Parts: sequence; structure tokens; C-alpha cells
Amino acid sequence: MKVCVAPDLCCGAQRCAEVAPEVYKIVDGFSAFVGAGDYEVPKELEKLAVRGARACPESAITIIE
Ligand code: SF4
Repeated sequence: MKVCVAPDLCCGAQRCAEVAPEVYKIVDGFSAFVGAGDYEVPKELEKLAVRGARACPESAITIIE
């Protein structure tokens, strides 16, 4: 599973990082991932990644299976 954030939709509300800080962190006011580029979510963090994506008020996070 990969996660992808649309920077044009992300408003920096930080809900993703509050719900799933192991996956999402805020850099320069926008959501970013722990890791660089396309972020491949470690198996053990997949549920948390989905929870963080669902918490996003802007639907800015896409889950790629
Ligand atoms: S919850 Fe959504 S809008 Fe808020 S920082 Fe995360 S990705 Fe951006």
C-alpha cells in the first residue's frame, strides 16, 4: 500500500498527523510522510495510514492498494 497527498487540497489541518503520527507529519504547513517521495506504508502501519486518510477533512490523502 502507498499513500499520496494532493498538496493543492491539503490545508494543513493536521488531522492526519494527530490520528496517525507514525505515518504522517506536517512539513512547512502541509502533510508529508515519514519517508521521501511516494511513501510505501509498512504492513504494520497500514490500518493507521487508512485511519489518518479518513480523518482528513479535505480528502487530500489517497490510498493506493
Ligand atoms: S488532514 Fe488532510 S488537510 Fe490536514 S494536514 Fe493532513 S492531508 Fe492535509
